[in-house]
Amino acid sequence: MNKTIGFIGAGKMAQAMIEGIVKSHVIPKEKIIASAMTEKTLEKIKRKYNIVTSLHNQEVARVADILILAVKPDLHELVIEEIQSEIKQKAIIVTIAAGISLMDIERAFGTKVRAVRTMPNTPALVGEGMTALCANDYLSEEELLEVEHLFTSFGQTERVEEKLMDAVPSISGSSPAYVYLLIEAMADGGVRQGIPREKAYRLAAQAVLGAAKMVLETGIHPGELKDQVCTPGGATIEAVAALERNQFRGAIMTAMESCTKKVKSLL
Ligand code: NAD
Repeated sequence: MNKTIGFIGAGKMAQAMIEGIVKSHVIPKEKIIASAMTEKTLEKIKRKYNIVTSLHNQEVARVADILILAVKPDLHELVIEEIQSEIKQKAIIVTIAAGISLMDIERAFGTKVRAVRTMPNTPALVGEGMTALCANDYLSEEELLEVEHLFTSFGQTERVEEKLMDAVPSISGSSPAYVYLLIEAMADGGVRQGIPREKAYRLAAQAVLGAAKMVLETGIHPGELKDQVCTPGGATIEAVAALERNQFRGAIMTAMESCTKKVKSLL
């Protein structure tokens, strides 16, 4: 890609994306620029990724063709006010923030700005991110494809209607946290039965990775895949029955509902 990518804010999510982009070589390091609030963070990023850094958001805005707003949702207005007179005429503004709409971006810039709303997740760090995205009408299909190309450098992308974007954090943006809980719980269960801690994490994490791949690569319904593991009268169906008694699936759906409720109240 022959574009300059700017990050306003270089926290956890931005760094996961930067790491994924740098590892994929989709863009040369000297074409990636990120701003942060402190010299300490900038030095850390410079040392780790060898990209261009700046203490000044405006400096990033001035050079970026694709400008990624990677600050918390409640800081968007403030940051946009600071950079709006500096952005390139054809800059594509990308937000990664939960609950920030395309309309919020347009309103804050006060012009017909090209805007993309995305919801990535931190497995971007290992090239296995999942990003849902949608764009406003000022972007051409070609420009949106470019943004998708950038995001696929660290995982998969899926176009989602904007009205569904508030629900996306609950299913892919935040859900790595639930999966880590699951892995930790499975490992604890293993340790409880005498399996050494490190082996327990590996066994649990690889089982989760493998099961996810089975869903994605075979296209078989998750219920059918579950059935294939459950021998009649066997041990697995006992575990499934115990999970059902403890409302495993209901607990996850309730957690997702809470997540979306919070997303809608973030601004
Ligand atoms: P974070 O706190 O790690 O990062 C935010 C960064 O912004 C911090 O480093 C902070 O110093 C910096 N910052 C604050 N004010 C700034 C300013 N005025 N100018 C420049 N930088 C400034 O948070 P995060 O988890 O990386 O979240 C950032 C955004 O990413 C949020 O909007 C969040 O909704 C979104 N997001 C996060 C995740 C995740 O898993 N962490 C997933 C999807 C989306």
